[in-house]
Amino acid sequence: MMLKVIPVGILSVNCSVILDEEEGKAVVIDPGADAERIEEAMDGFELQAIICTHGHIDHVGQVKTLKEKYRVPFYMHRSDLFLINDPIWPGFEKQIGCALPCPEPDEFLEDGSEIKVGSISLEVLYTPGHTPGLCCLYMKDHGVLIAGDLLFKGSVGRWDLPGGNLEDLKKSLARVFKELPDDTLVICGHYEETTIGHERVFNPYLRSLL
Ligand SMILES: [Zn+2]
Ligand SMILES: [Zn+2]
Repeated sequence: MMLKVIPVGILSVNCSVILDEEEGKAVVIDPGADAERIEEAMDGFELQAIICTHGHIDHVGQVKTLKEKYRVPFYMHRSDLFLINDPIWPGFEKQIGCALPCPEPDEFLEDGSEIKVGSISLEVLYTPGHTPGLCCLYMKDHGVLIAGDLLFKGSVGRWDLPGGNLEDLKKSLARVFKELPDDTLVICGHYEETTIGHERVFNPYLRSLL
């Protein structure tokens, strides 16, 4: 397994491109902008699935482009359907490089389900709060969590955008910190990566929660 994390668009959304070198297959998570750079990262591999951690347009912004070209299934949780074409602020989609309308998912993510592509195995953790449908993708064998906007280095996802809920966010964070080992690498929805262990100690938002 090879993981390439590509910051895309002016909001630096971390798009994860996961490559299975044995079978030449690829999975893309959160293709928010810059479709050409995402395609470059998976050059020589066959795209099998597009997954979005949640429905905010900065994360789904190039699903349309990739789906039209590669005709592969798009996975997302059903509770975020109302967000995938909501610009939140007028004209925001143009500023951040989205190609809307985003198509509806072909498959819905469910807590505890598993997506398998070649030797890549992604476990779905349903962790709402930032949005009602946010899911993390966990590669247990490799100790990697793709967390979307649940958690950031030194911060947590905002809960004031459409559909956000602070109580749900707290429960989801508590769950992730209870279930995952400290050495888990966390790919956040934006900016730097971190680990569960680092955030457990240094993240001020988690102090009262864990
Ligand atoms: Zn978001
Ligand atoms: Zn985001």
